[in-house]
Amino acid sequence: MSALNGKVVVITGASSGIGETTARLLASLGAHVVIGARRVEKLEALAANIRADGGSVVIQQLDVTQLEQMQEIMGMAQSRFGRVDAIINNAGVMPLSPLEALKIEEWNRMIDVNIRGVLHGIAAGLPVMKKQGFGHFINIASIGAYEVSPTAAVYCATKYAVRAITDGLRQEITGQGIRVTLVSPGVTESELADSITDNEAKEIMKEYRRIALPATAISNAIVYALEQPDHVDVSELVIKPVVKV
Ligand code: NDP
Repeated sequence: MSALNGKVVVITGASSGIGETTARLLASLGAHVVIGARRVEKLEALAANIRADGGSVVIQQLDVTQLEQMQEIMGMAQSRFGRVDAIINNAGVMPLSPLEALKIEEWNRMIDVNIRGVLHGIAAGLPVMKKQGFGHFINIASIGAYEVSPTAAVYCATKYAVRAITDGLRQEITGQGIRVTLVSPGVTESELADSITDNEAKEIMKEYRRIALPATAISNAIVYALEQPDHVDVSELVIKPVVKV
């Protein structure tokens, strides 16, 4: 039996891409998955699929920029299953552009979803996990958390921030039974690049997308971190395609 059997895992941004494949994989391993995103119809279709395969899933409409909605999904997971073993702060957006294009609304959206969203996940999750005396934060950053690439200054800044916040969280709560993992994907098949409006950034992404990893490659890394015994903290995982652009 999988170590994840019966575990309760909240996943943000589960309506597509990495969140979706991770929800499917965790449910197939016997976890109860509590999935959130803004597009509820996509969550419903995914949940129907998971249930048809015998999995356990609960859905909740979620905008991670709204703290009270993060608190609601955590509360729902707790009241439904009596515990929360892990939260995967996965929701993210990536409308890339050069800084000089001054796409300020897009900068703000990335800051709100990618940084505030993760902070809201921590704010909603930490009191629950401290009270339980166990829990696991999995925060999804990016290879952009280690190096800035063309047209990605603001996106990378948000991911550097996620890396810093994750590291700080681990330092603060180590020894309290709560684990903290940073998962940093390289280019991966998903809907992430669809929101790019800048032509230069679109062209660059076309090249990257040729070598994209399947989203399941990232889900496998997440499962690896989650499956470890309670005393093992997998701090950081970086997953890249083998081929270089
Ligand atoms: P997708 O665009 O396929 O998935 C992003 C998810 O985030 C969607 O489910 C979307 O759902 C959700 N989301 C966006 N905004 C919000 C919001 N305000 N509140 C709640 N959910 C939201 O992309 P990926 O699967 O690729 O992205 C997952 C994570 O992986 C992101 O953090 C991304 O930065 C990171 N990543 C991805 C890489 C890649 O190459 N794909 C590489 C490195 C990192 P909805 O619109 O329904 O709300």
